[in-house]
Amino acid sequence: MTTKTRFAPSPTGFLHVGGARTALYSWLQARANNGEFVLRIEDTDIERSTQAACDAILEGMNWLGLTWDEGPYYQTKRFDRYNEIIAQMLEKGTAYKCYCSRERIDVLRETQAANGEAQKYDGCCRDLPARDTDEPFVVRFKNPIGGSVVFDDHVRGRIEFSNDALDDLIIARTDGVPTYNFCVVVDDWDMGITCVVRGEDHINNTPRQINILKALGAPIPEYAHVSMILGDDGAKLSKRHGAVSVMQYRDDGYLPEALLNYLVRLGWSHGDQEIFSLEEMKQYFKLGDINKAASAFNTDKLVWLNQHYIKSLAPEYVATHLQWHMDDQKIDLSNGPALAEVVTALAERAKTLKELAASSRYFYEDFAEFDEAQAKKHLRGVALEPLQLVQQKLTALTEWTAEAIHQAIEDTATELDVGMGKVGMPLRVAVTGAGQSPGLDITLFLIGRSRSEQRISKAIEFVADRINS
Ligand code: GLU
Repeated sequence: MTTKTRFAPSPTGFLHVGGARTALYSWLQARANNGEFVLRIEDTDIERSTQAACDAILEGMNWLGLTWDEGPYYQTKRFDRYNEIIAQMLEKGTAYKCYCSRERIDVLRETQAANGEAQKYDGCCRDLPARDTDEPFVVRFKNPIGGSVVFDDHVRGRIEFSNDALDDLIIARTDGVPTYNFCVVVDDWDMGITCVVRGEDHINNTPRQINILKALGAPIPEYAHVSMILGDDGAKLSKRHGAVSVMQYRDDGYLPEALLNYLVRLGWSHGDQEIFSLEEMKQYFKLGDINKAASAFNTDKLVWLNQHYIKSLAPEYVATHLQWHMDDQKIDLSNGPALAEVVTALAERAKTLKELAASSRYFYEDFAEFDEAQAKKHLRGVALEPLQLVQQKLTALTEWTAEAIHQAIEDTATELDVGMGKVGMPLRVAVTGAGQSPGLDITLFLIGRSRSEQRISKAIEFVADRINS
C-alpha cells in the first residue's frame, strides 16, 4: 500500500516553526517511502480562519520547498460530503439525534462535577425511538460502551484509552455544521491517509477518531504524535521568544535549507549526524526515531547551520535567496557585479543573508561618506602617499583582475617599505567606506575599475583636506 500522509493546518495564523516541523516530518514520511503528501486546510472554524492565514501557510510551505501532491483541500468546501456521511450514520444507527437542551447538559455537568465524576454526556437520547419533531438537535456519535481503543503510536508507543472515558461526541451542531473531529475522520478516510503525523495536542482526539473510523468501516491509519517545541527558557515556544513564523526566518536572512536541517534535528536524530541534505533526510528518516521528549529551540545552532549552508551551497543558488534581501534593502543591482560573485566573496563572513546583503551595498552603490571612526583612524596624513602610489599602479594596470590588483598593492608596500596594512587599510576604507571587507583584491575587482579609482581619488582629496585644515 502506498504511504499517504498529510499536513492539516488550521488557518488561524502564520505557519510557525512547530507546524513547519510537523509538516516536514509528515512530508518526509511520504517522501522516504515513495508515498504521497496531501495538504489540507482545516478551515471549519469560520470565526478564526482567515484567507491571509491560508496564504501565509502556503507561502511558508512553498518557501521551505515542502511540495504537496494533492490539495490544498479546504474543509469548508466539503460540507456536503460530511453531511452525506452523517445522514448515512443516522440511517445505520451509528449516530443519533440528541435533543437535550443546553440547560440539561449544564445541570448534568454541574452534578457530575459536584460528585467528583468525569464530566461527560450520559447517553440520554442514545436509545430514543425516532421522533417526528422540529425541535433543535445535535448529532452524536454512538461511541462503543466498554472495551478500549488501542493504537501503537510511532513516537509514543502503545496507547490505550478506555471507551468508558469517552462520551458520545457531537458530530453535527444544532445549525447542522459538522464538528472538527468528524471532518478530520471523513477527510483522512476519503483522502486515503495511511499515516497521520501531527502534534501531541491531538492525542486525545485519536481514540475518538479511531472509533468513528471503525464505525464507518474505514481503515485505521498509523499515528505519530510529535511533541512540543520549547523556547530556550523551557517555556512553550511563543512569539515572546522572537521569530516563530517561518517567513520571519526568511526575513531575518535564513536559507530554507538551514531551517529545514534545523527543524529535522529538533526532535529527530540519525546517529550523531548534524548536517542533512534533503536527500539524506529522505534516506534516513524514520518516524520511530523521533524523540518523545519536548525539544528546546536553540537559535545559535540555527545560525551555525545557516552559515554552513551560505558557505557550502552553490553561490548561484544562494544568490536567488539573497536577491530577496537586496530588493528588501532596496539595493539596485543594475550597476555592479553578478550576485553569485558577491556570495562567493562574502560567504565566509556572513551569518545571515540579511547581513550579507547589507555588507554588499558598496559593490552596487556609491556611499556618501566614509565611516567616521574608520576614516579618523586610517585616512590620515600618512595614508596620502600609499593611496597616491597604489592609485598610480592601479591606473597603470593593463587588465583588471584580482591577481593584478593584488600585485599592485604588494608593489606599493614594497616600494614604500611599509607593511601591507599601511596600504591596505586606507585603501579598504577608501573603496568600501568601512573597515571590513573580504580580501582587497577581490573587493576592488568586484567594485570595478572606474568606481574603485574614483573612490580612491575621493579618499586622496579627503586626506589632503585633512592635512591642510
Ligand atoms: N488542524 C489541526 C491543527 O492545526 C491539525 C489536525 C490534525 O492534524 O489532525 O492543529
